Amino acid sequence: MSIIGFVKEQLENERRCSLLPINVKAYVKLGATILVESGIGTSVNIKDSEYVDAGATIETDRTSVLAKADFLMSIHALNKVDLEKTKTTVCCISFLDPFNALEHIKWLQESGRSALSVEMIPRSSRCQKMDALSSQASLAGYVMVAKAMSTLPRIFPMMMTPAGTLKPSKVFVIGAGVAGLQAIATAKRLGAAVIAYDTREVVAEQVRSLGAKFLAIDIGETGQTDQGYAKALTPEQIEIQQQAQAECIASSDVVITTAQLFGRKPPLLIKKDVIAKMKPGSVIVDMAAESGGNVEGSVSGSIATVEGVTVIGTGKLGKRSCVGCESNVCQ
Ligand code: NAD
Repeated sequence: MSIIGFVKEQLENERRCSLLPINVKAYVKLGATILVESGIGTSVNIKDSEYVDAGATIETDRTSVLAKADFLMSIHALNKVDLEKTKTTVCCISFLDPFNALEHIKWLQESGRSALSVEMIPRSSRCQKMDALSSQASLAGYVMVAKAMSTLPRIFPMMMTPAGTLKPSKVFVIGAGVAGLQAIATAKRLGAAVIAYDTREVVAEQVRSLGAKFLAIDIGETGQTDQGYAKALTPEQIEIQQQAQAECIASSDVVITTAQLFGRKPPLLIKKDVIAKMKPGSVIVDMAAESGGNVEGSVSGSIATVEGVTVIGTGKLGKRSCVGCESNVCQ
């Protein structure tokens, strides 16, 4: 009988965990033995006893879970120190960041261990239940609007008071994929006036159906890949886009950028000279910061001030507490 192991996440501030008691029953039904590191659910207020009641076995020793498991499931890729304690035949399933963590992938391959990257699961309706990218992008789109709203020194909705009327804040969303559409919907629900742009014209209708305006920019042929991902623009097209959206950015209170290219560095879409035209105190959220950034001056996992504008760069929440591992997965 295969043993599936679940260990606690090692990143500081990471609250997610890879197993809920409700899932244990499904795995057990498939004939697997479920081994869980004690305390795995503490960050989401789930007690060890709830996993036991669902049919899992709790281990207080992390090494023991690592050593016994045939499959290991986690949110983030396990680091080298952990992996060295596993069977060489183990199969690890997690986010793997396969286009950036090249050293780590090479090490896995050389050591004979297998790994499945949830990022590589096709984005088709058939695989929807396993679409970890969409589930996280959707939540991130929502959270980033909430962060922008709490940072902006004015409110989102129009407000009529006896002393006067406040206009709604203007939110411009660049990139209307999963995260962008959720950001548009959230900002609309909060009462902002929302405009969006994406190089894939097919999403214009989806943007309008959420009550937002679609910024029309003629940059010539764009298109999308068979998987539905955007194709990279030429430098000339990027320049046209930068110029055409500059006015919209300058008049916005909040700009949220989500423009990504699968497996490639995201395009730089907002330069400092355009940021300088925004009102002081405005907010930019760069949701592509972790993979290279859409915004000049954004820092992944940090909040920076660029030309008087607050630039929130999404990214890793904290550092992994891993000693003695030189793999880039631990950085
Ligand atoms: P993504 O994270 O790769 O990119 C985000 C958005 O940025 C995309 O909409 C892309 O077109 C846009 N973008 C790229 N360059 C840009 C630029 N220069 N300016 C403005 N926008 C730019 O995309 P995603 O959110 O992961 O979605 C990828 C595809 O997968 C989409 O077509 C989506 O509809 C599809 N999808 C399908 C399913 C399904 O079940 N069928 C589920 C999820 C996603």
